[in-house]
Amino acid sequence: MTTKRQVKASKTQKARPEKPKKSKATKAEVAEGKTEAKERPQPKKKFDVEFYRDWCKGCGICAAFCPSAALSMNEKGEPETAQPDLCIGCAWCEIRCPDFAVSVRERKEEVCEL
Ligand code: SF4
Ligand code: SF4
Repeated sequence: MTTKRQVKASKTQKARPEKPKKSKATKAEVAEGKTEAKERPQPKKKFDVEFYRDWCKGCGICAAFCPSAALSMNEKGEPETAQPDLCIGCAWCEIRCPDFAVSVRERKEEVCEL
C-alpha cells in the first residue's frame, strides 16, 4: 500500500530534471590544452608546518593526530615535519597542540618579477 506521502515523493522525483554528466578529460586532452580551464588539474597546494620550540613540551600529540603521517618525533623527542609533501593542511596538529606551539600556513608560490 502506498501512502499519500510516498505518491507525492515519487511525483517530485520524476519531475526533477537530470543533471548533465561531467565528462573527465583524458591525459592527452589535458596535455594538448583541449580542456576548459576548470577541468585542468590544479597544482597541489603545499603547506608549511612551523613549531615554536620554546612552547613545545614534546608530548607527541601533533604527530599522533596527523592523518597523513607528515609529522614524526625525532630522536630528541621533538616534533618535526618529516615528510612535508604529505601534509594536506588539515591543521589537526595546530588544533590539537595543548601549548599552541604549531602553526600551519599555506605555502605561497614566490613570483619572480623581472
Ligand atoms: S602537540 Fe604541541 S607540545 Fe606536543 S609535541 Fe606537538 S608541538 Fe609539541
Ligand atoms: S596540517 Fe594536518 S596533515 Fe599537515 S602536518 Fe598538521 S595534522 Fe598533519
